[in-house]
Amino acid sequence: MTNVDKKRRHLLVTNDFPPKVGGIQSAIIEVYRRLPSDEIVVVAPAYPGDKKFDASLDFPVVRIKTKAILPTPSTISKVREVCRRYEVESVAFNPLIPTSLISRFIDVSRKTTLFWGAEVVIPAGLMPVRPLVKYALGQVDDFVSCANYTVGDLSRLSRIDLSERATTIYPGIDVGRFTYKGDKTAFRRKLGIYDDSFVVVSISRLVPRKGMDALIKAASIASREIPKLQLVIGGDGREMDRLQSLAQSHSAPVHFLGRVPDDEMNDLYNCGDLFAMLCYNRWFNLEQEGFGIVFLEAAACGVPSIAGQSGGSSEAVVDGITGQVLSDPRNPLSVAEALVRYYKDNEMRLKQGEAARNRVVADFSYDEIALKWKNFLHL
Ligand code: GDP
Repeated sequence: MTNVDKKRRHLLVTNDFPPKVGGIQSAIIEVYRRLPSDEIVVVAPAYPGDKKFDASLDFPVVRIKTKAILPTPSTISKVREVCRRYEVESVAFNPLIPTSLISRFIDVSRKTTLFWGAEVVIPAGLMPVRPLVKYALGQVDDFVSCANYTVGDLSRLSRIDLSERATTIYPGIDVGRFTYKGDKTAFRRKLGIYDDSFVVVSISRLVPRKGMDALIKAASIASREIPKLQLVIGGDGREMDRLQSLAQSHSAPVHFLGRVPDDEMNDLYNCGDLFAMLCYNRWFNLEQEGFGIVFLEAAACGVPSIAGQSGGSSEAVVDGITGQVLSDPRNPLSVAEALVRYYKDNEMRLKQGEAARNRVVADFSYDEIALKWKNFLHL
């Protein structure tokens, strides 16, 4: 047996894997690179730059020469071959559709599917594809979900009680990259913001679900009571023009940064007194916030958050402890009230910031999260 052909107990079959960039890709690689490297193997689609990326890993990645992993005869045969070659005992499929549809052709003792949110909740909510979702759910033994709400929603929509077979393991963050710095002024000066401003930071892709419009309107209202209020919005997206016009028409104190370089993200969070992202549900609750990693990143920097109640946001932010979760995030008045409350109550803000950082360091570091996966996968 060569080194590469050595027995590997666990296989991940995934459509999302670096070097393709994205939140799910990052979450997966940060876990899998921390699992015992001699126990795992990955099957993923080919992607530009994959050879160089795969060479940097100390476990094998078998690339399928298509854009996505579909249950075609050639892909099924490839996955079967990998299972035989490495004597694989357990397989994790990501996402449920289409990768789990391969599952019935694979003979291993345990089959798992990963849930992230929209990719399973939306198809489960659509009548024409619901039967396929139910079928796929029946093909695997158990599930790992990145938030509790996904399991509840999916059980309700599919009318299959998944609670017994599902385990929630939250996504992690790099607590070495996102840290409390203590100094807020250096980056404020770089942005041209006064040292003594009350700075509310928000970062996300600028898409409607993130509720930036309500936050901008709220900033305009709150600025009557917070004269030195400055809202700093990082990130880019299709809403940028509309949001800029909105800020102008409401005379809101907003500073748009556009796409923020990776190496400035920690400084940006740290320069805020408060983080806010008013995510909300759209399309009859089918489109929700998956988890809200940005709340964890802000927390790691010792900054409390105001979050809109949507999907996993109330699991990312503990209401009243690490921030506030608003049940009516579309109402600029109640968002403005929350901003003013945090402005006025310095002690509460600092206490929540500290609690947020302690929680993230204890429970959400990649090392902690990977350990949970290792136990779950029996590696
Ligand atoms: P999602 O985009 O809906 O998955 O929202 P999340 O909050 O779960 O994750 C967004 C991720 O993208 C976080 O890790 C953010 O830090 C990151 N992100 C969003 N906007 C920017 C940006 O402008 N620059 C950088 N470097 N990262 C960003």
